[in-house]
This record gives sequence, C-alpha cells and structure tokens, in this order.
Amino acid sequence: MDMVEIRSVGVIGAGQMGSGIAHVCALGGYDVLLHDVSPERIEAGLAHIDQAMSRQVSRGQIDAAAKDTALARIKPAAELQAVGATDLAIEAATENEEVKKSIFRALSPHLGANTLLASNTSSISITRLASATDRPERFIGLHFMNPVPRMNLVEIIRGIATDAVTYEAAVNFARSLGKTTANAEDFPAFIVNRVLVPMINEAIYTLYEGVGTVEAIDTAMKLGANHPMGPLELGDFIGLDTVLSIMNVLYDGLADSKYRPCPLLVKYVEAGWLGRKAGRGFYDYRGENPVPTR
Ligand code: NAD
Repeated sequence: MDMVEIRSVGVIGAGQMGSGIAHVCALGGYDVLLHDVSPERIEAGLAHIDQAMSRQVSRGQIDAAAKDTALARIKPAAELQAVGATDLAIEAATENEEVKKSIFRALSPHLGANTLLASNTSSISITRLASATDRPERFIGLHFMNPVPRMNLVEIIRGIATDAVTYEAAVNFARSLGKTTANAEDFPAFIVNRVLVPMINEAIYTLYEGVGTVEAIDTAMKLGANHPMGPLELGDFIGLDTVLSIMNVLYDGLADSKYRPCPLLVKYVEAGWLGRKAGRGFYDYRGENPVPTR
C-alpha cells in the first residue's frame, strides 16, 4: 500500500461531532470539506465552529488570526461526491448502521485511489462498516470524544482488514491534532462507551425505579464519584438517541440482558427529548438554567 500524506480531510455529518472534527482539523492546518444532508445543516455546523473558535479566542487559547485562517480552510460540500477527492474522509453522521453504510456505498465510486476512510462511530462494528466500501484495508475507526476541541482522546479501532499503513496514518493524524490515542479492538462500543454508556443507562434505571430524582442522581455521582458531570447531564450532552443506539448495539452485539436499554430512555427518545441538542432531555434547557424534567 502507498503511504498517504494527509493534507485534506472530508467530514460527513456537520452535527456536534462532525463540526468539532472539522474545527480541530482546520486548526491543525488541514483543508476541510464539510458535508451534510442539506445546506442549512452545513451552515449550522459552520456557525457552531465559528462560535466555538470565538470562545477559544476569548479564553486566550488561540488568537483571532488563527481563528480566521482556520475558518477559511473549511469549505461547505453540498454534494457527497466532492468529499471523495480528499485524502481522508471521516464519517460522523447519525449513529445508525444503515445510514452509515449507505453513505459509504454512495461515496465509494467517487474516492481517490489513495483516500483513507474513517468512521467516528461510537459503537458500530468497523469491520461491518468497512464491508460497505471498496477498500476495507484502508478503513479505520477514529473515535473522537465530545466536545472534540477539548477532549484529548481518540480511540483507534482497526477492522479485521485494516492494514498497517492505514493504522499508522490514522495514529499520526490524531497525534498531529494534539490528541492522545488508545487502541481498542473491534467489539461493540469499543472501550470508552462499553464502560460509560451502561453507567448512564443504569443512572436512568435508578431514576425509573424511583431510587433518586434527576438532581439527586447527578449530585450523588458528581460529589460521590468525583465525576465532572452527572450521568443524566452527560446523557443529555451526548444525545439520548446516541445513548440508546449504543445500548442497542451492546445488547444485540453481546447478547447479554445486562445491556438492555432502560424503557425510560426509550420513552425520552420517542418523545424527541434527545437532550441538549433538542433543548430538552433529563433537563429542560430552554430557560436560563437547566431544570430537571422529572
Ligand atoms: P448529531 O445528531 O449532532 O449529528 C449527526 C449529523 O449527521 C446531523 O447533522 C445529520 O443531518 C447528519 N446526517 C444524517 N444522515 C446523513 C447523511 N446521509 N449524510 C450526511 N449527513 C448525515 O450527532 P453527533 O453527536 O454529531 O454524532 C455523530 C456520530 O458521532 C455518531 O456516530 C455518534 O455515535 C458519534 N459520536 C458521538 C459522540 C457524542 O457525544 N455525541 C461522541 C463520539 C462519537
């Protein structure tokens, strides 16, 4: 396999994670193409990046010139095909296997010969996603954490066919963004979410069973376990649809009833109360301060 020099990055999905990935890539000196299902979604992603970079400027983490240079490096890509011309295409669309596979199937015919493919999936098998592409050997899991500019870890997940050149390129790429990498094998939800998301699901069970209120559960875990955010607050932050998808991947993939999603989590997702991004989850974010919804 030819060694790849990564200069340009395509990001598919301009939501919380895709915009964060585009943000750190642009600050890292890469040219970025940002794609989503509609121009409005791409614009919303760009506006989010602008705001997040402005916060970094006001905190003195970057200067205004660095922000302007980085923002100018990110270009909207209305058509998915355009992303095929980049050196590395990172998929960060909704956590749904069919959505992700259909993106990879549509993108494959437009890829450059050496383009590397990555998915930011939180839980779905890298080997299965790679099978929807024409290049499983050049496919890898690059699992960034939320919020991407502030979190130092990138989990790296090799599929069964991922070759050594792809792995090295992915590790070097993550390091070039100032991130630390940890390798995880390709099993459901890898390391971070295998441990973290069942804890969030368990916190929802304690709420469902009336062991504690939203406030009591979050206060108990913040002060009792020294977690910076309570588990329900964290679920809202991740997105409850994503939390539910990850529980389903664990439940289906490991066939163990200890991973069954809490019915209350299902109910919140069915209600569209997906957490912060929807304005309401275990807390209501529409006023000045978050208010528990139970
Ligand atoms: P999100 O809902 O904020 O964004 C998802 C974006 O994907 C939306 O803008 C949506 O329009 C877009 N999308 C859907 N179908 C598409 C398609 N066919 N083509 C292009 N774009 C499409 O979700 P998110 O939190 O950014 O999660 C994205 C991915 O990152 C998921 O795989 C998730 O598991 C993973 N992830 C999430 C977190 C987290 O804390 N939220 C952390 C790490 C990884």
